[in-house]
Amino acid sequence: MRTYGCQMNVHDSERLSGLLEDAGYTAAAEGDDADVVVLNTCAVRENADNRLYGNLGHLRPVKDAHPGMQIAVGGCLAQKDRGEIVRRAPWVDVVFGTHNVGSLPALLDRARHNAEAQVEIVESLEVFPSTLPAKRDSAYSGWVSISVGCNNTCTFCIVPALRGKEKDRRPGEILAEVQALVDQGVLEVTLLGQNVNAYGVEFRDSGAFADLLRSAGRIDGLERIRFTSPHPREFTDDVIDAMAETPAVCHQLHMPLQSGSDDVLRRMRRGYRQERYLGIIDRVRAAMPDAAITTDIIVGFPGETEEDFEQTLEVVRQARFASAFTFQYSKRPGTPAAEMDGQLPKEVVQERYLRLTALQDQISWDENRALIGGKVELLVASGEGSKDAARGRLSGRARDGRLVHFTAADGIRPGDVVETVITEAAPHHLVADGVLLSHRRTRAGDASEAGTRPTTPGVSLGMPRIGVPDPLPVLTTGC
Ligand code: SF4
Repeated sequence: MRTYGCQMNVHDSERLSGLLEDAGYTAAAEGDDADVVVLNTCAVRENADNRLYGNLGHLRPVKDAHPGMQIAVGGCLAQKDRGEIVRRAPWVDVVFGTHNVGSLPALLDRARHNAEAQVEIVESLEVFPSTLPAKRDSAYSGWVSISVGCNNTCTFCIVPALRGKEKDRRPGEILAEVQALVDQGVLEVTLLGQNVNAYGVEFRDSGAFADLLRSAGRIDGLERIRFTSPHPREFTDDVIDAMAETPAVCHQLHMPLQSGSDDVLRRMRRGYRQERYLGIIDRVRAAMPDAAITTDIIVGFPGETEEDFEQTLEVVRQARFASAFTFQYSKRPGTPAAEMDGQLPKEVVQERYLRLTALQDQISWDENRALIGGKVELLVASGEGSKDAARGRLSGRARDGRLVHFTAADGIRPGDVVETVITEAAPHHLVADGVLLSHRRTRAGDASEAGTRPTTPGVSLGMPRIGVPDPLPVLTTGC
């Protein structure tokens, strides 16, 4: 399966793997011809359509040489292009949307049986995707969806058009899924939603997200809780309190800025201004001085003037982000911003982008240098350091999310926890080349070593089953 896109899209792929395995399919080995190829697309990515149709073009001769092979296309781009996909690539067997991921096995069967392409796009969510089984990619860390869709209308974003209005999952179901992952050795969970701070809007509980953090923090064995993405418009101080007062919640915040200019923020329809954004950062730092704050910034939004851009640089200087994902604005068909006047020439956007990344790299480096000599706890990762083997190192994530490459020692597995001291800093990573202070073997490390991965069942609550059900985690909000 190929996945192109955001965390929501990557986690959907885990569900697609789980669904297909439940339906009797097994993953093809690297290099083997697959009987079914699923392309899970993301319309948020630049050039998503070209990449999709390019990949479909490459798959055509493969399919011609392999009778019976099926090709399915899902995700945001499928939701957007629908029947257009089988018109442009008639060798595609199944097109399914973001709201009917669960239909994929049935659609593959139907396409095979009827010998014709099946296009099924539904307009709104019928089953919350987290009630579908998932085959997880990591033995030590898992995503858990708390909501899908978004009620905001940012003018550069295609999500509201393709993923629909926000749907919130009940706290009891979320906590049961977290518990199921922890029971299988997972140490770290990232709560996932387009706008986690709006969580609870459906059941009218404005404190629901803070309550959820506190409840998850009471799950025994869960060492690290992260979440993405918060939204400055809905971000409230009770979330800061819950983060600071719940030991398992990591002092890491990815808070999208997008622009530092009030005028651009207004045209982006973001619903906050520079002053509110910086106020949140100040309050987070007051409650958690060690917090690593990261952000997303779009450069060259339609109509952005040099003065607007200077405002963004000013916020970056004041906020001192640990790192920033910086994007050059490019039109996304179907979004209001694509139709706005004042689209900027590529050279202007590029020049501003380079100034912004130079400033942010300097700040990231300064912030990282300030950590030299400090002790860090790392959750050992797999596949995060491409040069590790050559340098005799392993890599891990600190509690604040920073990537640290450290000197390897015998017996350390992905999913284990080590403590070490930072010896060197670069803008985008840290190095710890001293002797380890400690190494804790974990169940996640055992699972990594054994090559097993956690799975989560389809419906975690309300399914009839035999015997006494496991107790649910304590809830502070109803479900
Ligand atoms: S908050 Fe804005 S950018 Fe984020 S998903 Fe919603 S509309 Fe898109």
